[in-house]
Amino acid sequence: VCRRLVGRTAVVTGAGSGIGLATARRLASEGANVVCADVDAERGEAAAQEVGGRYVAADVTDPDQVEALFRTAHETYGSVDIAFNNAGISPPDDDSILETGLEAWQRVQHVNLTSVYLCCKAVLPYMRAQGRGSIINTASFVAVMGAATSQISYTASKGGVLAMSRELGVQFAREGIRVNALCPGPVNTPLLKELFAKDPERAQRRLVHVPAGRFAEAEEIASAVAFLASDDSSFVNAAEFLVDGGIAGA
Ligand code: NAD
Repeated sequence: VCRRLVGRTAVVTGAGSGIGLATARRLASEGANVVCADVDAERGEAAAQEVGGRYVAADVTDPDQVEALFRTAHETYGSVDIAFNNAGISPPDDDSILETGLEAWQRVQHVNLTSVYLCCKAVLPYMRAQGRGSIINTASFVAVMGAATSQISYTASKGGVLAMSRELGVQFAREGIRVNALCPGPVNTPLLKELFAKDPERAQRRLVHVPAGRFAEAEEIASAVAFLASDDSSFVNAAEFLVDGGIAGA
């Protein structure tokens, strides 16, 4: 692993598990100071301890907690160079448009989309003052191609993340700030395992669409995030950055 991120400070939301945890590890191994945010204190603390970073308890749907998160990161390390806005939840049970209820729909928009709006809003003032920053928002392949496995609330929330990332990337490019939407294919994480445990047939239906014949490991997503966070991706902006093994409409 190269050390592209020495002296940089990264905030990772949902750092306690899955893609967030693997990314916290990866960014730290490349030299970054990593602030681990999670609503689950036990997992968040453990992640921070492992990567030698700082845990901040934050529910990303709460504007005050989100502001405090980025303020704490800035106070602790003197800058906020990387924001990996990644926390999210899986689709509710039976998330086809014919079945899903308004409450479930709104909960998913809140945790997956409003959270990203709040995090971007909170971090941008720091990045503008620095004249530098890389924001990576976790969307999903479903934002690009839809999901044959019916998950309308989830897909719509990720479509919002993708569109918002593109617009912010365009708006702030002249200020040295890049904003990209990370679009993972299916990744072996607790989120996916929970989803497939409820509906094992769904895993099989999805797998047939992945040319690689397997799902990704979280580390394979984390390495893409490290690239987007680093200056190696200096001309990658407002992108829908697919890391999906060549998936086609699963
Ligand atoms: P995960 O469930 O393993 O981890 C998510 C973490 O986010 C957990 O630690 C959880 O406590 C935290 N979290 C949940 N709600 C939160 C909140 N309100 N505030 C703060 N933290 C909160 O999930 P994962 O698979 O690593 O997913 C991470 C992101 O990647 C999500 O946005 C997910 O939608 C997206 N994604 C996952 C896959 C996949 O196949 N696993 C594919 C595409 C996109």
